[in-house]
Amino acid sequence: MANYAFKTEVNQLLNLITHSLYSHKEVFLRELISNASDAIDKLKYLTVSDDAFKTLSFEPRITVTLDEDAKTITVSDNGIGMDEEELADNLGTIARSGTRAFLERLGENERKASNLIGQFGVGFYSAFMVADHIEVVSLKAGTDKAFVWKSDGKSGFEIEPAVRAGFGTDVILHINDEGTEYLSRWSLEELLKRYSNHIAWPIHLVSKEKTYAKDPAKAESKTVDEQVNSASALWRRPKPELTDKDYIDFYKSLTGDEKDPLLWIHTKAEGTIEYSSLLYIPSHVPADLYIPTREQGIKLYVKRVFITDKELQILPPYFRFVRGVIDSDDLPLNVSREMLQHNRVMMTIQQATLKKLFSELEQLAATNPEKFKTFISLFGVQLKEGILSDWTNREPLLKLVRFKSTLAEDWTSLADYKSRAGEGRKTIYYLTGENEARLRASPLLEVFKEKGIEVLLGTDEIDELAFGGIGEYEGMQFKSVQQVDAEEELGKDQSEHKDRGEKAVKILKRVLGDRVKDVRLSKRLGKSPSCVVVDKDEFTPQYRKLMERLTNEPAPEVKPILEINAEHPLIERLVALDTRKELSGGDLATVQEIEDLSHVLFYEAMLAEGEHFEVPQDFAERLNRLLAKSS
Ligand code: ADP
Ligand code: MG
Repeated sequence: MANYAFKTEVNQLLNLITHSLYSHKEVFLRELISNASDAIDKLKYLTVSDDAFKTLSFEPRITVTLDEDAKTITVSDNGIGMDEEELADNLGTIARSGTRAFLERLGENERKASNLIGQFGVGFYSAFMVADHIEVVSLKAGTDKAFVWKSDGKSGFEIEPAVRAGFGTDVILHINDEGTEYLSRWSLEELLKRYSNHIAWPIHLVSKEKTYAKDPAKAESKTVDEQVNSASALWRRPKPELTDKDYIDFYKSLTGDEKDPLLWIHTKAEGTIEYSSLLYIPSHVPADLYIPTREQGIKLYVKRVFITDKELQILPPYFRFVRGVIDSDDLPLNVSREMLQHNRVMMTIQQATLKKLFSELEQLAATNPEKFKTFISLFGVQLKEGILSDWTNREPLLKLVRFKSTLAEDWTSLADYKSRAGEGRKTIYYLTGENEARLRASPLLEVFKEKGIEVLLGTDEIDELAFGGIGEYEGMQFKSVQQVDAEEELGKDQSEHKDRGEKAVKILKRVLGDRVKDVRLSKRLGKSPSCVVVDKDEFTPQYRKLMERLTNEPAPEVKPILEINAEHPLIERLVALDTRKELSGGDLATVQEIEDLSHVLFYEAMLAEGEHFEVPQDFAERLNRLLAKSS
């Protein structure tokens, strides 16, 4: 038996590891599994590269054995194993990684092929977070003497001869109080699935489970041995090998979504930075999309080992509906949150992934308009959120975003609007409201329709902000048709009825008083008698509603401006009534009728824009009186 002191200040370093490097102690299992996987990779590599091992045949397998009574968890592999010296060197010296030494001996290309996970010699020690005492029994392939390494992770370690049937390694953890939660088949299985599902080699979980019996005394225990990982790492496989069904099945197992995804994007990047990514866009809006605490849907892997889906927002928040996997060869396995956030490799991967996503969506718009339409109806709102929040990606976002429009049955792009508008026009008109049918019928659009001028229609709550947020598109300014100056350049001339119009304006101002900010002759009305707009630079009703919802406070009141159509018979009638009133010296019934008609013109205009009144009965009462008169 040989006794050794740890070669470096293991005590201090152990403390560091257990308290700062690993924020979650459960990663011990991930680390041991990846060591086992590395060991198998190394032996596999020897069987193809070293004549002495060419004849060796072995079926790679990692086994995790739980013994609840003995309070041990054992991670075994039939990989390359360690001899006495390697046990002392590799496990006795922290921060000195045998894997790294091995890698350095390999040539560049072989290194890439070998899929070795570990790069920093700290992983093994994470097991001391949950174990008081660890034994490592190992037989190196090609030798015939096994050894056991034992340590409490504090003072040092000892190594003595041992017995092991066949090459490979068993890491036996004597679980401490910190680790009791892992002494159950259920929790180990959950951990293995979460972190190691895509390790290339089969992982078996072996435990003794009690069979059910009515009389607990009669319950027997039997050994359960099942493979718990899928061992596929689908995203790493070449595209031609994979069928649609493979992709769909993987999506479902990844997300728990029962529906097929709308589309997926599978990328294998090679070059200075290597990574694979497989992104999915769901075919429905995830129920929790608007819950602020929702986690992003992308899992980060390093060499097939799951690292995190929380520590880092891989795509901008507006793409939080995207699900999938990114797997890199160029990040260390024990990369911490802080490292991830400032890591150059990670940033390059993030940028490339986002770029790829944008270009694939653009591609989809060009090649599969139907599918793209579905995408827009599901996630168009998110693109608009992006326009408002991500200035750096404004250009690709503006290419993708779509709106409803008066000149298109379906969605239209800004580029299409611009090309239909022609060179001369410098304005993109828009109208927002809750209901598409009501928008299409709005009196505000009458002249725009007559003149064939396209107006974008926004029915998403965010549209009001989005239009304002875009501000300008390739030299064209956005302008709401709800604002008074919108029609200035359209100029429908009402000079024929100017006199009548001016009279009506006076009457309405007198009757409506401070219900309105102003009454004016309209240049935009065709068939309707009246409409309401807001002053330029004042908040549109949609904007006020949105503000109220976001701030939970009443937005500053904006008084509407009533516009009237002097050509309309009701305006004609209003003026005629006023003349009759003058002649009759203020006949009460006529006065009442003037008031009723004025208010009804106002109410109707408000209704057309989807506004509500505090006392709708007043509208009904006045309308009823007018109707009764006309009979
Ligand atoms: P890393 O995996 O980053 O190299 P670890 O602390 O996890 O660091 O492991 C230290 C070293 O111990 C490994 O590099 C490897 O040489 C050796 N080792 C650990 N576990 C095994 C195993 N199951 N089989 C063979 N060697 C192992
Ligand atoms: Mg390791």
